[in-house]
Amino acid sequence: MPPNYTAGFLGRAVNCSVGGFPEYSVKVANVAQIQLAVNIARNLNIRLVIKNTGHDFGAKSTGKGAINLWTHHLKDAEFYQRYQAPGGYDGPAFKFGAGVQVEQAYRLAKQHNVTVVGGEGKSVGFVGGYIQGGGHSPLTSIYGMAADHVLSIQVVTADGQFITADAKQNSDLFWALRGGGAGTFGVVTSMVVKAFPKIRTTTLTYNMTTGGNFTREKLWAAQRAYIDGFERYADLGYYSYYRIRHVGGQLYHDMTSMVAPNTTEAEFRASMAPLWAKWEEIGVPFAPVIRELDNFSDAWELAFPHEVWTWTMRQASRFVPRSVISDPVKRAAMVDAIKGVSDEGANILLFNMRNPPGSAAIDNAVNPAWRDVLMFAIMFVNWNVTDPAPYAEQLSRNLTYEWNPRWRALTPGSGTYMSESDYIEPDWQQSFHGDKYPRLLSIKQKWDPQDVFYATNAVGSEKWQLSETIMGHLPSQNSKLCLK
Ligand SMILES: Cc1cc2nc3c(=O)[nH]c(=O)nc-3n(C[C@H](O)[C@H](O)[C@H](O)COP(=O)(O)OP(=O)(O)OC[C@H]3O[C@@H](n4cnc5c(N)ncnc54)[C@H](O)[C@@H]3O)c2cc1C
Repeated sequence: MPPNYTAGFLGRAVNCSVGGFPEYSVKVANVAQIQLAVNIARNLNIRLVIKNTGHDFGAKSTGKGAINLWTHHLKDAEFYQRYQAPGGYDGPAFKFGAGVQVEQAYRLAKQHNVTVVGGEGKSVGFVGGYIQGGGHSPLTSIYGMAADHVLSIQVVTADGQFITADAKQNSDLFWALRGGGAGTFGVVTSMVVKAFPKIRTTTLTYNMTTGGNFTREKLWAAQRAYIDGFERYADLGYYSYYRIRHVGGQLYHDMTSMVAPNTTEAEFRASMAPLWAKWEEIGVPFAPVIRELDNFSDAWELAFPHEVWTWTMRQASRFVPRSVISDPVKRAAMVDAIKGVSDEGANILLFNMRNPPGSAAIDNAVNPAWRDVLMFAIMFVNWNVTDPAPYAEQLSRNLTYEWNPRWRALTPGSGTYMSESDYIEPDWQQSFHGDKYPRLLSIKQKWDPQDVFYATNAVGSEKWQLSETIMGHLPSQNSKLCLK
């Protein structure tokens, strides 16, 4: 790591090394290059790592000594006014290359007067870790997960073959690649996804900071009032993503965006009026920015920031199902637990969304726990590169061993989202996949019997381990990957 970016306790002053980044990188321009790299890695028994944007919070796109397949430049995209897919779909669709990012997908959707189901993050890869991990979206409350709308997948398999997986051919792989996680079943080169009609969208953003009359108690009272309505907002088709962070000794809360698809500004205001009246009673400094646009892409472009994350952070997360949110006692206990970890130093990210009725019957590998989520809660800690190791280690250990267990205890049998979770999530097979794990593992064994593909906490990764740890408990990508 360049010295300025490396924590002192990782040997900042000592030297510069490639570290956990792969030794060899293939800047992929076509499918044949992927096939060649897969064949080389398999035949020479070299670790292979697929990297798209590198956004994954589990650093899945890194690996010491590996060959790296960099798919970022596979930007081809095609629009079909009418696409007929095996399985019965007949309507508009896009084919996106492996390097297409969310912002490109939304721009193209606008050009063609349609809507696609993608994430909130502008630079996240559409076809890589996002959609293969399930993919939640500002449109999830009305359309479900991004993986629910995949029609066909083009993929290079571990034996170097280039195949199509859809409802008719290679349907087991098609099932697994829609929610079962990326980086382990094959290298996806492109996907065909459904496009929906253009949709009117209203968004809300605001921020507030505690201080003066606006105490922390008032902020949490406002949160309780808001979360009391989570079931109703999600059932109206709304989504929200917001943060409560420690900034300068105060709590800074920003609504990254609340999104109300298919809703006019007037309808949105009417639906939120009871909450805002309550907030006024509490004394919340609330200055909303509300925008109504005639299409989702423009609404999203204006409402969501270009998010930047640093590597000096760790996160953990949990799904909170409808059964907890709809029960006043359990809901209050959950908010207490969220406030509790915030009081002890964690930063909080909360999502309010649902999967629409009927989604649980969709036959793909999306984590079944997604299907009755009303809240997706993330906690994160961060530190500075100049902070001493014991400080960072304590934060990291609190997250995994003290704080997240409290959230787990209140949501038994639920799980969390593999793409935004703890790097050392305990019992990750259950948390990320529920009862779908055994089938996913057998598909992995069928399509990749020699373990050409490996990614942290990906299906089949349990038989491997990294030979070194950081701070005594975090597996280090800057070490050898060995069979246990
Ligand atoms: C700022 C930000 C915003 C986010 N917003 C959202 C959101 O709104 N909704 C949501 O659901 N998630 C969101 N995420 C999480 C995101 O979905 C994951 O980080 C995801 O893993 C990113 O995928 P990627 O392909 O862009 O990244 P990478 O880190 O490059 O890849 C992630 C994993 O996918 C594998 N992979 C990549 N491409 C391929 C391929 N073509 N074939 C096979 N495997 C592949 C890699 O090997 C790696 O294991 C966000 C993340 C960030 C950092």
